[in-house]
Amino acid sequence: MIEIPRQKPKFRFAPSPNGPLHLGHALSAILNHDMAAEAGGDFLLRIEDIDQTRCTPDFEAGIFSDLAWLGLRWQEPVRRQSEHFAAYQQALQSLIGRGLVYPAFLTRGEVKARVAAFEAEGRSWPRDPDGTPLYPPDDRERSETERRRLLATDMKHAWRLDMEKALATAGGPLYWEESGDGETGIVRTDPAVWGDVVLSRSDAPSSYHLSVVVDDAVQKITHVVRGLDLFHATSIHRLLQTLLDLPEPLYHHHRLLLGADGNKLSKSLGDTGLAEWRRQGLSPVELRRRIGL
Ligand code: GLU
Repeated sequence: MIEIPRQKPKFRFAPSPNGPLHLGHALSAILNHDMAAEAGGDFLLRIEDIDQTRCTPDFEAGIFSDLAWLGLRWQEPVRRQSEHFAAYQQALQSLIGRGLVYPAFLTRGEVKARVAAFEAEGRSWPRDPDGTPLYPPDDRERSETERRRLLATDMKHAWRLDMEKALATAGGPLYWEESGDGETGIVRTDPAVWGDVVLSRSDAPSSYHLSVVVDDAVQKITHVVRGLDLFHATSIHRLLQTLLDLPEPLYHHHRLLLGADGNKLSKSLGDTGLAEWRRQGLSPVELRRRIGL
């Protein structure tokens, strides 16, 4: 009988060290860890620190000690995104070479003013699933000569995906396999709702979407387990995987934990961190119970 080599299951927990981990992160980390153990696979840790203004070594150290306190062990070495900008740049260059991205010069303030002026007339500007206004078409519609002229100045710019061209290049509709707590089965993507997403920022040589697909491929991740807040972002990830010829992992988007106000827990809003629960004497076993595991 011919043995078909099976890929070793690989799971990852990928926090950003821009604040203390809270109960929602604990749920994500424990699910990844336990699902990896059950599948006889590996549990990897990735530090998503491309935003060097908000990520700090202290928050990173906090992640390691919180996860160790939870009793989780991960495979070394930990992949730290800030050490791999060259890999993201290489992926970006391949998209630039095929004319699938364009330099975007509008500042956040200019976009905001444009949207406000438009909406002041009683119309509504289209927004993405996270509620962010879609990027205006100005930069996409620039001529090649104008683009080159602007690039030759030292004007700050990002790189954005030309969604229409990207979809045409990808061909037919794309799908992913989902086993999480929301819609399950084969899910049809809808990347167009995100508009021309940013792939490299003016203040960082990558973006979340670009780094995450490159890293999942480099780390040979077979199962992406993360919160339902990233469910719709999977459409962008499948599109980028297709354009960059990267493998397709399975996806499992788990339930989110809500705070007393009914909103999802958030680092930026200062929801109680794991270290604080620990200080108050909660044990890892009690914590598991508290988050419904
Ligand atoms: N770094 C992301 C976060 O902290 C998670 C990304 C992912 O799991 O794909 O929300």
